[in-house]
Amino acid sequence: MTRRGDLPPAGPRPARDPAGAVLRAVLDHGPIARSTVARATHLSAASVSGAVTSLLDRGLVREAPEAAGPPGIGRPHVPLDIEPDRVAVVGVHIAVPHTTVALLDLRGRIISRRRDPHDARDPAAVLTALGARIAGLPRTRRRILGLGVATGGWVDTTTGTVVEHPELGWRDVPIGAALAEATGLPVRADTNSRALLRAEQLFGAAAGRARQSAVHLFVGNVVDVAFAAGGTIHCGPRSAAGVVAHLPVEGHAEVCSCGRTGCLQPAVSERTLVRRALAAGFIDRPGLDALLDVAAHGHPGALALFVERARLVGRAAALLLDLFDPEVLVVSEAGANRLPGCLAALRAETARWSSGSADGAAVVRASSFGRDVLAVAGGAVALDQVFAAPLGVT
Ligand SMILES: [Zn+2]
Repeated sequence: MTRRGDLPPAGPRPARDPAGAVLRAVLDHGPIARSTVARATHLSAASVSGAVTSLLDRGLVREAPEAAGPPGIGRPHVPLDIEPDRVAVVGVHIAVPHTTVALLDLRGRIISRRRDPHDARDPAAVLTALGARIAGLPRTRRRILGLGVATGGWVDTTTGTVVEHPELGWRDVPIGAALAEATGLPVRADTNSRALLRAEQLFGAAAGRARQSAVHLFVGNVVDVAFAAGGTIHCGPRSAAGVVAHLPVEGHAEVCSCGRTGCLQPAVSERTLVRRALAAGFIDRPGLDALLDVAAHGHPGALALFVERARLVGRAAALLLDLFDPEVLVVSEAGANRLPGCLAALRAETARWSSGSADGAAVVRASSFGRDVLAVAGGAVALDQVFAAPLGVT
């Protein structure tokens, strides 16, 4: 149980929603007594008590099982913790080759997940299939609080619309409205990087620093960036912040979806990597998993492809580091997340290209979610909403 003396010095300003501040304090420090929550959140004992009653009613927190007696107010020292079993959110990730659908608990832990290749990539086919896959998740007695979607390209968070996703060939697709109609759940959508930055801020290995200032760089078949300052992720007036697909890189002739050559995204995309590995005979079937497998088993050619990609990503990270000087810069890239040597190569290249000191590259770290990034991403979009305004969820 967290005690007063264990708390870090005065934290950031209280969130506007007292229940949200209380729920985050319980997430960060639980099991924790109401009286200690008051200290952690700078809220009055009465505000904490009221918020806790509402959170208990909604099944978002629980009183520690060892505490005897009936639950309720007036129990300032009974420890509170996040409720592990009664609620969940659905997370959806739409990648270029497949979708991932997952069920996550309030701590962002994956309860179940499935990944399915697209039968067809047109929006109607993908959204219809997603509706069926969400309905096909293993039955649970948990109350589902909401559904979050993460995908690449330009996503308008306020309207839940994929404005443009050139790799899928999508334009102005109202994924939020379509999935809300299919599931009856409240739906929020966001970009890969903004979703995963929310996850880092909530549950990441460096969550405290990520809430101060952070940059997230996602590298898959698409590339995007998110940044946060003062705990707030910047989306921009058009929700278009973070589109870095066309950042120039030298010496790469891959043709980009924009029609030009020399763009970052096609130089580092999984499709490019897999195509080069197939051409070189490193793998005999397409798919990033096959390439990761042979690289993890020590295939020098396959590993070299990932190291080369890590170096390119490291250059982009150097630019972002100089631009934002964040407390932490998180990279979600399969090699850096899962293969030996890739993160070191990435950091070395960041240090080489950053105009700051070599120490700057030390803030570069791999995703906290390893091979679970796609399953966590969508769920984090929904959980971010739960933690921001928990009494708004039904
Ligand atoms: Zn381009």
